[in-house]
Amino acid sequence: MKKFFYALRAVLLLALALILSLTLSSCSAGNADADKTDAVSPTPDAAISPSPAGDAADESEPDDATHVIATPEATEAIAQEPEETQNLAPYDGIVEHLFFHTPIVYTEQAFDGDAQEEGFDQYMVTVSEYKKILQNLYDKGYILVNMNDVWNEYTDENGKPYMKRETLMIPEGKKPLILSYDDISYYEYMMDNGFPYRLIIGRDGELWSYGKDPQGNAVISQDVDCVTILDKFIKEHPDFSLGGAKGLICLTGYNGILGYRTQTDSKDSSKEFEERRQNEIARVRPIVKRLKETGWYFASHSWGHINLNTASFTKMKNDADKWMDEVGSLIGPTKLMVYPFGSRLDGDDVQKTGDAFKYYHSLGFRVFASVGIESFSRVKKDISAVICDRMHADGLTLRNERERYMKFYDAAEVWDDARPEKYGRKW
Ligand SMILES: [Zn+2]
Repeated sequence: MKKFFYALRAVLLLALALILSLTLSSCSAGNADADKTDAVSPTPDAAISPSPAGDAADESEPDDATHVIATPEATEAIAQEPEETQNLAPYDGIVEHLFFHTPIVYTEQAFDGDAQEEGFDQYMVTVSEYKKILQNLYDKGYILVNMNDVWNEYTDENGKPYMKRETLMIPEGKKPLILSYDDISYYEYMMDNGFPYRLIIGRDGELWSYGKDPQGNAVISQDVDCVTILDKFIKEHPDFSLGGAKGLICLTGYNGILGYRTQTDSKDSSKEFEERRQNEIARVRPIVKRLKETGWYFASHSWGHINLNTASFTKMKNDADKWMDEVGSLIGPTKLMVYPFGSRLDGDDVQKTGDAFKYYHSLGFRVFASVGIESFSRVKKDISAVICDRMHADGLTLRNERERYMKFYDAAEVWDDARPEKYGRKW
């Protein structure tokens, strides 16, 4: 009898295994990939059916995306609410601010000795470093806050608007932190250089990233993009986020947004181009919507990633207007402006309030962020605005600023050995 039971169980297990393998192979990568939580390897082995030769995979991507189905993990996470925020305490100290670019997924492509290698090394972290940095920030007691909540505009008794730094209410012992992400455009120059191609929405309604591995296979994953990695991290650690706050996405417009080519082209006014553009706009709208629903928020990073320090007033104004038309129209109003290259309007927004600054102010921008050696901020007295600096989590500071960044993470601990040795490091 016992023997029969074991035999029956073996048959049942075999049948189950068969069904499972059939199910998995008929689904897309996204499903298989979703099981690989916390893969620290920067090289996702999570991919997928080989795509047709050439660039045809681009065309097949929407199909891939619709094959993503809800995983038990994703369903659970939706039901999971942030823990009850007990013992909130007032906080008036420094709100630290760190920013990233899109992390490198395939280091063998980014660090391949070509002309772009050094830039990628300086300005990006790898996926492995990014995941370790998030863990370090969490372990050190940081909690993400929405930058929009840190400063708000009020009106004084004379009807004059002014910006005020809010007293934050955060869980006792935690330290508030803003994370921002520059140039989440998946620029054309990044294609085939080790980065994802775009954000997409799976059949489960969640955000995923789409790209190709170095062998050209389509990869749909939540483990390789800064957005979905943070989403997953906060699902696993809800107390890393105050009120569901995620990160600030800083967008240019010249290559579209979020991997969709929504930009105009002054050299192409054809009907075909405009149709393609409108199609891209239709595709990106649900991505923007889902990002906003899940705690992400947006800033301008100028349309053309221009140097606002040196741009003429006319150039600055045309660029800002174009951003409002092509990007602002898709993401909605924002009071946040993040300077490309960290270059301040009018060359200086600390000591003066110039015409360019006033123009941006007239478009509704109130908080202007540059880059610095500390999370500096100042409420301006002569105009209702805030200027501030962000610190840069990237290869430059990993190599050269280990001590300064120790309050966030230890460069030696997060360091990815795939980085080229030739650029040196100061530790
Ligand atoms: Zn930038």
